[in-house]
Amino acid sequence: VRSEKPSPDALSSVGEFGLIARLASLLPPLPDAVRAGIGDDAAAIAFGERTLLATTDALLEGVHFRTDWTGPEDLGWKALAVSLSDIAAMGGRPAFALISLGLSPDTPVSWTEALYRGMGRLSAEAGCPVIGGDTIASPDRISLNLTVLGEAPGGRYASRSGAKPGDLLLVTGTTGDSLAGYHCLKRGWSDSNADEAARSCIRAHRRPVPRLKAGEAAFATGAVTAMMDLSDGLSGDLRRMMERSGIGAVVEESRLPVSDAMRETARLLGGEPARIALQGGEDYELLMAVGKEGVPVVQRALESAGVRATVIGEATGRRGEAWLRRANGEEIPLPEVSWDHFT
Ligand SMILES: [Mg+2]
Repeated sequence: VRSEKPSPDALSSVGEFGLIARLASLLPPLPDAVRAGIGDDAAAIAFGERTLLATTDALLEGVHFRTDWTGPEDLGWKALAVSLSDIAAMGGRPAFALISLGLSPDTPVSWTEALYRGMGRLSAEAGCPVIGGDTIASPDRISLNLTVLGEAPGGRYASRSGAKPGDLLLVTGTTGDSLAGYHCLKRGWSDSNADEAARSCIRAHRRPVPRLKAGEAAFATGAVTAMMDLSDGLSGDLRRMMERSGIGAVVEESRLPVSDAMRETARLLGGEPARIALQGGEDYELLMAVGKEGVPVVQRALESAGVRATVIGEATGRRGEAWLRRANGEEIPLPEVSWDHFT
């Protein structure tokens, strides 16, 4: 008889972040040159006179992508985009990328070429050449691992830990489009049979745009106290920033950045736009905390980078408490609807 309960030694019982903490304790202490390590979007390392940023992300077929939902060009683009987004979250500038690719022997060469075309397009746009990597045979599924190295201009980089009570919380672009697109794909909707709103969400899911210029420009103002990218969803990622900064937060439901396309797609799916925007996942937008007086200068910097940002709420001194203020003024606990990779 199989037990329904995972054993205490199962990964699912410690969760992704529990696992990371346990594993980090088994490694030698970090050298002084490492300024930011595990727990931020990228590591920051003093390297001669400069500060290097380093981040790595893995994508596994059947877990992070399905080849029938995401074509190879989109996948190549997205694999690089997720790592570039972590560099953007640090206010950094990407420099080089490395790729490790696991392919099954029956993967068509044309599929692999299309993957590289998509990756190459973003690599050119972002000014981040792919300088090498490794290719291995993977018997039953495709895997990709992207590492991006970058630089923190002037040796300064954003972290998740600097937000202060009273800071306003800003989010670039809109959230929930990618999740709505995922649900469209799950229902078998595609470019050929979905309406324009749904296709826009599917596009957001397949081709996220890392906010590189926006992240660098916003952080260069000196007014951003904390920043991270939204990979696992606004609700969960905000909690991570709160934890690292030792703050609480109130989010205004009416201010959640919902696109017209997502609102319309939510209606078609029978979902609630605010909930989809909060749950999100794979948005690759930036969440930042900014002192009240710094908001206009940050907004202007973001606009000059071609990105709109919305104030969604405020950091509070009620450490660890996350609230959602509804349109009628009622405050409810912020729904916990995030993505943990092992539970
Ligand atoms: Mg990140």
